[in-house]
Amino acid sequence: MRVLLLGGTTEASLLARALAVAGVKAVFSYAGRTAAPVAQPVPLRTGGFGGAEGLADYLVAEGITHVVDVTHPFAAQISRNAIAASAVHKVPLAALERPQWQAEPGDDWCHVPDVQAAVQALPDTPARVFLAIGKQTLAPFAAKPQHHYLLRLVDPPEQPLPLPDATAVVARGPFAVEGDLALLRDHRISHIVAKNAGGSGAGAKLIAARRLGLPVILIDRPALPPRLVLGSVPEVMRWLHHGDTERGV
Ligand code: NAP
Repeated sequence: MRVLLLGGTTEASLLARALAVAGVKAVFSYAGRTAAPVAQPVPLRTGGFGGAEGLADYLVAEGITHVVDVTHPFAAQISRNAIAASAVHKVPLAALERPQWQAEPGDDWCHVPDVQAAVQALPDTPARVFLAIGKQTLAPFAAKPQHHYLLRLVDPPEQPLPLPDATAVVARGPFAVEGDLALLRDHRISHIVAKNAGGSGAGAKLIAARRLGLPVILIDRPALPPRLVLGSVPEVMRWLHHGDTERGV
């Protein structure tokens, strides 16, 4: 057995640890987006494969027997490539996916299908917006330059921000509710834009928003072709060892 773990999330690091403890041969793949990625207890590779074809070639060249996709729920391209490449060579694929966040009493959420819709959902009058969406999809918000935008980025921005009135704080999750409450208060935030990523570390901002009664514009996950979805590291380990698929696509 040789597992390709497509990583970039907290859960990917947890799975890497479980694989190392179990003595399963694995290679952990990072896209290479952050300057100082989290160290892993299994061999690492970094950078794109060259699309679905490149990934398919890699699976054969490296003798990969299983692919586990533990990328971020919004990293749709690599997930699509993994589905396609695994199908070509019939390499079993499973995704470890966090449940989506669900609204609770006191939440003021507006669900939107994509980033463009999130821009539209912001008010026209000037607001102070916590744009908790990473660095890759900031540009569309330049269409509403009247707002002040607070960004939280893993690395300091290398290029000028594409927004006229923005502040960037540099921090890496997981985040805690108290810290996110302080962030929202200190920056006098009136609106939050977030991706429905799921997970507790990134969910702190939503609990903080609830406590402060702030509206949240929540971007839905991109749709993916059907694939086996597992919900926890132990489920993935069982699947690897027994081909056990408790939950279907
Ligand atoms: P993406 O749009 O799905 O992927 C774009 C390209 O980046 C892929 O086609 C692939 O290049 C390469 N790539 C992505 N993940 C890779 C991996 N784990 N190993 C090797 N190559 C990878 O993904 P993204 O949104 O740019 O996200 C990149 C990474 O950041 C992912 O690992 C993801 O888990 C992490 N991340 C993303 C978000 C987000 O909101 N999108 C948030 C937090 C963390 P080739 O086609 O050349 O193979």
